Amino acid sequence: MQTIEFNHEWKMRLLNRFLTYVKIYSTSDAESETTPSSPQQWDIAKYIFQELQDLGLSDVSMDENGYIMAYVPSNISENEPTVGFIAHYDTSPDFNGKDVNPQIWEDYNGGDLLLNQETGFTLSSEKFPSLKKYVGKTLITTDGTSLLGADDKAGVAEIVTAAEYLLAHPDIKHGRIAIGFTPDEEIGRGAHKFNVAKFGAEYAYTMDGSEVGELEYENFNAAGAVVKINGLSVHPGYAFGQMKNAGLLASEFAQMLPANETPATTKGFEGFYHLTDFKGDVSEAKLQYIIRDHDAEKFENRKKIITEKVAEFNAKHGENTAEIEIKEQYRNMKQQFEGKMHIVEIAEQAMKDANIEPKIKAIRGGTDGAQLSYMGLPCPNIFAGGENFHGPYEYVALESMEKAVKVMVNIAKAKK
Ligand SMILES: [Zn+2]
Repeated sequence: MQTIEFNHEWKMRLLNRFLTYVKIYSTSDAESETTPSSPQQWDIAKYIFQELQDLGLSDVSMDENGYIMAYVPSNISENEPTVGFIAHYDTSPDFNGKDVNPQIWEDYNGGDLLLNQETGFTLSSEKFPSLKKYVGKTLITTDGTSLLGADDKAGVAEIVTAAEYLLAHPDIKHGRIAIGFTPDEEIGRGAHKFNVAKFGAEYAYTMDGSEVGELEYENFNAAGAVVKINGLSVHPGYAFGQMKNAGLLASEFAQMLPANETPATTKGFEGFYHLTDFKGDVSEAKLQYIIRDHDAEKFENRKKIITEKVAEFNAKHGENTAEIEIKEQYRNMKQQFEGKMHIVEIAEQAMKDANIEPKIKAIRGGTDGAQLSYMGLPCPNIFAGGENFHGPYEYVALESMEKAVKVMVNIAKAKK
């Protein structure tokens, strides 16, 4: 096995690329209907597009929705499948993403990091014990006033660097490598305008996980349910035997679902019903739920159970007191890997070859990769290295990003 030489110059290239990206404001906006959802995302999209051209990648394109694609051409005569790598360049609207001022901490000593002299904002190793894994590493943090945007600019920087590395090392034999960058992942719209046919990869990996070793190809099956309760409002003084208080009825309904099947009482492969919104008055009330389960059969059963509860409720309180509408949201991508587990195994082996222990786990949520898998592009998720996403405590180690580059180069290597 030929090991990848990643010298100081390459490390600095990776670091500087990442620092450049995080300083470009690119927060997405769930309220907007456009793609990208926010005008500032065009700034980073144009920057990346230009950079890919300058690096000499092939067929660099950016479409009217800001989706960027580019290729490292195959350097072998054998027929290898085209392998893709995907990341998103927007950052989460959950916290300020403007004027990011990254702080670099070389040879981290394991203690607290005072990120901001002025405000006293500190990244505490007691509050965040995950920091202990990074003693001796180079950490990149925020200054406490913004998120960092390692989610997912670490992924973007890693992919661009891996592509640059492959171009600079023709001795590494590989098939055609496709790379793609999307807007709006953080608002759940990263995949929906992704042109899978144009991308032309047989399979791909999103570089959008957290700690080193993460490899995910399972996520929830997901649906949303709205339960509407129809009350009957009458003057309270004349309400005897007449009034149906929708608010009270709604709270009764909420109690009918199993109390131990909520996000706060489940973990691992356990599914749940999650009451996300509860609104109402005497005449009408609305309960919004999300329903989640990794297992397809149990997922179907959950939808059946909540529907039966509505029927039971109506039997007691009168027909049409409650109405339910269930909408499918996304599916567990695992079902798309049947007979294609080699896609996961290739990533696993690529990690082992880079001295990384793979940590395979199921996502308790969805990913763009899950959507892409159902669009015909099987797409597991690999770590990008960052920790504490979506807030001011976010950080990433340069060494973790370097490992992600090595994993990609190993995946790219021709298998024949
Ligand atoms: Zn992300």
